[in-house]
Amino acid sequence: MNDDFITMTIGKQKNIALIAHDGKKAEMIEWCEANKEILKGHFLSGTGTTARMITDKTGLPVRGYNSGPLGGDQQIGAKIVEGKIDFVVFFSDPFSAQPHDPDVKALLRIAQVYDIPMANNKATADFMLHSVLMDREYDHKVINFNKKIKERAATL
Ligand code: PGA
Repeated sequence: MNDDFITMTIGKQKNIALIAHDGKKAEMIEWCEANKEILKGHFLSGTGTTARMITDKTGLPVRGYNSGPLGGDQQIGAKIVEGKIDFVVFFSDPFSAQPHDPDVKALLRIAQVYDIPMANNKATADFMLHSVLMDREYDHKVINFNKKIKERAATL
């Protein structure tokens, strides 16, 4: 048996993180409003300002982490590692430099490591949110970190 990977399950109700850079906040709010009925059925969180603005403008409950430039992206990354966030919609702004670019890159990377669905523009978010998999459990394979640690500790 190959125990290099373990199976993890993304539940029917997703734990969705919502993040939008300043130039994309209006687009994110519009997208949330347009998809409110679907989003209502899931657990929502987001970086501080994005979360607050979505709640204020759409009435959707969104748990707010810290603001992105103050570590919010890193908090969301940590929740992915803990298995507590399993779906990310991140409207990043391709036209403006971000002071927290390393954090943004770290979040992209950790979402890859944990095989988390992550949209970085509206079209991808639309395809993801309207996927048949939104109404089902989804099993995916993630590196077996316990095994990895054991091997590394024994060989390094
Ligand atoms: P914010 O952070 O929602 O607090 O503005 C988003 C970001 O810039 O990553």
